[in-house]
Amino acid sequence: MKSFPSGPAYAPALLTIDLNALAWNWRFLSDTAAPAKAAAVVKANGYGLGTEPVVSTLASAGCRLFFAAQLSEAIAVRNALPNPEIEVGVLNGLMAGEEDAYPEYNLFPVLNDLSQVDRWAAYCASNGARAAAVQLDSGMTRVGLPHYEAEALASDPDRLSGFECRYLMSHMACADDPDHPLNAQQRDRFAAMVPRIPHSHAMLAASSATFLGPAWHFDYIRPGVALYGGRPNTLSANPLRQVIKLEGKILQIQDVDAPQTVGYGAGHKVEKPGRIATIGVGYADGYLRSLSNKATAVLHGVTVPLVGRVSMDLITFDITDVPDAKVGDKMELIGPSHTIDDLADQAGTIGYEILTSLGNRYARRYVGASE
Ligand SMILES: *Cc1c(COP(=O)(O)O)cnc(C)c1O
Repeated sequence: MKSFPSGPAYAPALLTIDLNALAWNWRFLSDTAAPAKAAAVVKANGYGLGTEPVVSTLASAGCRLFFAAQLSEAIAVRNALPNPEIEVGVLNGLMAGEEDAYPEYNLFPVLNDLSQVDRWAAYCASNGARAAAVQLDSGMTRVGLPHYEAEALASDPDRLSGFECRYLMSHMACADDPDHPLNAQQRDRFAAMVPRIPHSHAMLAASSATFLGPAWHFDYIRPGVALYGGRPNTLSANPLRQVIKLEGKILQIQDVDAPQTVGYGAGHKVEKPGRIATIGVGYADGYLRSLSNKATAVLHGVTVPLVGRVSMDLITFDITDVPDAKVGDKMELIGPSHTIDDLADQAGTIGYEILTSLGNRYARRYVGASE
């Protein structure tokens, strides 16, 4: 297998990224959506896992359509792809002055308002027609043509005649909550525009909406977080495989007793004799400070609580219940026994933020798939 960046030498923590699990997740999402096809969203450095390994693994698995958020990210995605036929889109829109980068790097823009549509049509008129996507805002109020602009485009579809609108798309706001009324409203608003705006393929669902059912699938789904093992919703068991494992080495163990305290702000008070283990991971590594006194990890199969505050480079766990633990042993901070969503719940955030915060100080080991 190809070798990918491995991080600093002597790192105190090891991040293992299972590319087989990533490929399995993409195939599972494809099968779930079939006969619709599956694209892949690889923004933010492949949700923190590395653009090159993620993109080359998904391309080998059969993915033919990728999305990044930013133009520079999309260039990195293009550079990681073996085959110029594979398409790469830029979700955040076409900014004035960036037009030439699209043909140069073989990318397509997602046009997010009417001025972007008109600017792309004008650019294509003098530089030759190229495909683009048009995104409608069906309820996010973020990017995409607002309803009044979508209406204007539907009544004057010639504005699209200078290029191919290859993808007509929209994005869901609440699909991780299957009971939310906005799910059906957004789908209906989008479906009503599908016959009215000329395009080749329609697409709406990201990870969560893929599991709302076939009415949300249209021609393509566009998952991100589920590829990387994130749960689509909290109502049913997560059908995806865990892709990452984060293990930190025990740097030191101290015997403790009341009335000692642990960490900054004396944030934990020791109440009885026990043992505290220190791990070389902190908020500078994306192990969020909001995990102070909240997180757990797994040591020799035993769940142990984080005690005290998360420091920049260090965290402390009460390992009194694991008497055989010793310096150098590895603690599972994230993994099959303690998933990204479990840790996110403890931090009061979402798995997305855990993934995209993963730091640069971990040793990284890529296992499985890819050539
Ligand atoms: C991030 C993003 C996705 C992927 O979303 P997930 O929830 O990670 O599956 C899809 N489409 C758009 C427009 C996005 O911004």
